Amino acid sequence: MSEPKKLFIKTYGCQMNVYDSERMAEALGGQGYVETKSPDDADMILLNTCHIREKAAEKVYSELGRFKGLKAEKPDLKIGVAGCVAQAEGQEIMRRQPLVDLVVGPQSYHRLPEMEAKTRTGEKALDTDFPEEDKFEKLKNRPKAKRGPTAFLTVQEGCDKFCAFCVVPYTRGAEVSRPADRIIREAQDLVERGVREITLLGQNVNAYHGAGPNGDMTLAGLIWELNKVDGLERIRFTTSHPNDMTDDLIEAHGTCDKLMPYLHLPVQSGSDHILKRMNRSHTAESYLRLIERIRAARPDILMSGDFIVGFPEESDADFQATLDLVDEVQYGYAYSFKYSTRPGTPAAERPQVDPQVADERLQRLQALITRDQRKIQDSMVGRNVHVLFEKPGRQQGQMVGKSEYLHAVHVADADVAVGALREVRITSSGANSLAGELV
Ligand code: SF4
Repeated sequence: MSEPKKLFIKTYGCQMNVYDSERMAEALGGQGYVETKSPDDADMILLNTCHIREKAAEKVYSELGRFKGLKAEKPDLKIGVAGCVAQAEGQEIMRRQPLVDLVVGPQSYHRLPEMEAKTRTGEKALDTDFPEEDKFEKLKNRPKAKRGPTAFLTVQEGCDKFCAFCVVPYTRGAEVSRPADRIIREAQDLVERGVREITLLGQNVNAYHGAGPNGDMTLAGLIWELNKVDGLERIRFTTSHPNDMTDDLIEAHGTCDKLMPYLHLPVQSGSDHILKRMNRSHTAESYLRLIERIRAARPDILMSGDFIVGFPEESDADFQATLDLVDEVQYGYAYSFKYSTRPGTPAAERPQVDPQVADERLQRLQALITRDQRKIQDSMVGRNVHVLFEKPGRQQGQMVGKSEYLHAVHVADADVAVGALREVRITSSGANSLAGELV
């Protein structure tokens, strides 16, 4: 019986890349690969890349350069690049970095077994197609391992919004929604393997409209179907666009018990001028009205957002409008970044904001966000929440999990197993987590 081959996957970027890396490991599992945590004893190294940040491709090339020595020691070592930089750069990666054997885009990684076999004959393998066939169907019969209590599940890919700063429509393609029955089957399989909470993923997940038994199904329709899956306790979804928050989805937040009271709803800026220049097709006012409707449906919902400061042409007044919006919404979480140019996007050609000004704005915004995040966390003290325990904590006997509001909660001396869903009384609030005791 030959030794299993070792696969080292390094994942960059978003939750969808995390999901894709799991699928790629399963795909290569059929070729006799088992995962290893170190590139030093790998027979294959796969970088699953992200194209979101400036100079993303350059970072991949420098990372690849670090494997030169390993490849010299192990000539049979195969090196592959996957993900959005693979999609954007394609053949160019092999031209600039000859030690790369395989380049595969996010839409064709179900062909990895054939591509890997091709590299074993000494040939290079390149595939950045947008194939018709459903990659998930091709992967469904791959051997699958036991899982922890939480999992991601891709339901929609690609995006048709073309925000002026974003590469996703170019690297992930047009919006495609998976058929509902295949998603439900995958969710049942995840529950059988130990999962109790599923986060539905999509670059524009609330635009989901997959084939269902009675025609197209919305995301809310899909959530109500998943609500029937025995053993599945909690449902989340990310990432949403304000323009696709449908009435039935807002209503589901108010009435579907398994749908968690946490919503990530990026807005990027509070200035209508900048929102227009970003091609976000909504205003700050319509976004605030939407938040009001969502909070009317689910008053305790925790809102999360995304912000870009220093977008081309952003004035002091535009930035102040962003601060005002953040102040009005009071986010439980918000991710904020300085604008960075992405090659091939419309905004990349525009005059840039002074980097020092952008730095200063980012600090002011993050100070405001941290103030609100802390205030909301502190308001949890004395309340009972429901925690899905995910792993042991750093201290002896400590267990850690997430509340329904996605707050990290640790409990000392917790006689609970991984996967247990228990009521916890919050006793204190720290910088990024809460402490509590079992009820
Ligand atoms: S909606 Fe999101 S994924 Fe789509 S183009 Fe805009 S930022 Fe990118």
